[in-house]
Amino acid sequence: MAFEKEKLSNYFDFLKPENGKYLPEENAYSHICPVCKKEFIGRRNQRYHPKCKIKLNNDLAREKNDLVKKQMAAYRKNVMILDSIYKKHNESDQGTVIVDLSLIRQSGFLFDAPIYPIKNKENNVEWYAVGQYSYRVQEGKMYIYKLK
Ligand SMILES: [Zn+2]
Repeated sequence: MAFEKEKLSNYFDFLKPENGKYLPEENAYSHICPVCKKEFIGRRNQRYHPKCKIKLNNDLAREKNDLVKKQMAAYRKNVMILDSIYKKHNESDQGTVIVDLSLIRQSGFLFDAPIYPIKNKENNVEWYAVGQYSYRVQEGKMYIYKLK
């Protein structure tokens, strides 16, 4: 899953409308609806059949919702992984746990899931907040800190 690469609406880029051809006898314009590919007559700046426009907007909304659902699922998965690894490596349940990055990779951790970057005010080091944890990666290790 590569969310950066997953561009919303690639499909819809192909749906840019053509300029309509003026029909003097109708005092209107002939267009090709980019959704259904059928010709229609309408206002100069009309781009779609009204029903096709509704369908297009619904498709766009669905595409966005699907992406958000995928991102939230990935986020939840990472919280569960961090929770499990943290508990396994720190019985006191506080402070920082340092584990090999290979362990994180084996766990199925999704590095491209949504994160919230936070900076340590003392040393300006950036961490990524995920649920009640924050983590950073350095020299093959993941540092996992449990937020209070
Ligand atoms: Zn149409």
